[in-house]
Amino acid sequence: MNKPHIVILGAGYGGMMTASKLQKTMHMNEADITLVNKNDYHYQATWLHENAAGTLHPDRTKIKIKDVINSRKINIVLDEVISIKPEEKIVKLANTELKYDVLVIGLGFEAATFGIPGLGENALMIGDINSARLVREHLDYNFANYHNEAEKNDARLNIVIGGGGFTGIEFAGELINRIPELCAEYDIEKTQVRVIVVEGAPTILPGFDEELVEYAINSLSSRGVEFINGAMLKECNKDRIVYEKDGKLTEIPTMTTVWAAGVKANSIVEQSGFTTNRGKVEVRKDMRTPDYDDVFVIGDCALIMNEQTGRPFPPTAQIAIQQSGTVAHNVKAAVRGEALQSFEPNLLGTIASLGHDDAIAEVLGRKLFGWKATVMKKMSDNRYLLKLGGIGLLMKKGKFNIFY
Ligand code: FAD
Repeated sequence: MNKPHIVILGAGYGGMMTASKLQKTMHMNEADITLVNKNDYHYQATWLHENAAGTLHPDRTKIKIKDVINSRKINIVLDEVISIKPEEKIVKLANTELKYDVLVIGLGFEAATFGIPGLGENALMIGDINSARLVREHLDYNFANYHNEAEKNDARLNIVIGGGGFTGIEFAGELINRIPELCAEYDIEKTQVRVIVVEGAPTILPGFDEELVEYAINSLSSRGVEFINGAMLKECNKDRIVYEKDGKLTEIPTMTTVWAAGVKANSIVEQSGFTTNRGKVEVRKDMRTPDYDDVFVIGDCALIMNEQTGRPFPPTAQIAIQQSGTVAHNVKAAVRGEALQSFEPNLLGTIASLGHDDAIAEVLGRKLFGWKATVMKKMSDNRYLLKLGGIGLLMKKGKFNIFY
């Protein structure tokens, strides 16, 4: 009899952790397991803002899949998923197709531009290694060009961050720390550079504790970040943005708009015909899709309602990693004909960095600021590395210097 074929799509937090757990707990004669990913590396999406600002080299963020996944136990296919045909149990890749018995979809997130004119064409995003690297290169290019034009163009030195949520604020913190280095390199006065966060809500970091938000505003403002709150981005052009505040339209000349105000699930999920809610699959308690018993969804492609708040749990690496325990268990149980478990989220807290040496955190009901929150952030990053690849990976990729 043929062994069942388990196919995992995406080597992000959810996909990698599921694959890593299955290779440890399933016998090779029980199932064939395939992990499909675009690249030969897993990247830590939670570090991408550092790559984008240029404060961390992208190589630090990448982890070779083969350093964690044993290719004798799991077949690694480097290809792009194009679509899924759940009725036929087929995944179409750019170069081939795969037939599965059990599927795990962990294809992550993509930017949501909400139809704002020009945003898709002219704004930069922080979505993966390539897009983060592009932000870094773009900053260098504009700073380098400033003195090379007969007429000085301030739009080259105005950097607009669309969105003062988690990603926008983490990026602002890294970027403002990088500005002195950029200015020194390109002979530019620091006072000529503007970093402006445009946020639609009345305050940045909506949903965060007020005291922590105030700390973040003070920390970032003291380093030069400007905030325009209650302002909706209306248009994004190559050399300016337009925002609306209190019914009035205002322009900011800028050649750098980094859009960090919205993510959605990978659109392959919706395009493949799964029943979705806001583009995500509202999974059953055991992480399967509502319509297919053989398809599990994990991470940012899955939607789980928080019954206490009546709102979905936010898409985070924390949740994706936790879900991998349930998904790995249930995939194994499905193959073995055993009972499936329910996923119970266990929110441990939220930590937002404000640069490499400052952060805010709400962890297990406690509020932390400054170096204490920074240590927590680095501990949480290191904990993930330890879980994923043991002490070897931790020593290779871990963050041990709390001041950098
Ligand atoms: P991802 O980690 O996005 O991985 C998806 C994988 O699928 C990738 O390897 C990708 O290459 C692959 N893939 C995508 N499409 C295809 C395709 N068509 N074919 C083949 N492969 C494909 N969360 C936190 O909990 N804490 C934080 O501090 C935090 N900080 C963040 C900071 C930033 C700058 C960003 C951008 C996000 C942050 N998040 C944070 C959110 C977190 O990164 C995501 O929730 C998490 O990455 C989702 O994990 P995932 O497993 O669903 O997918």
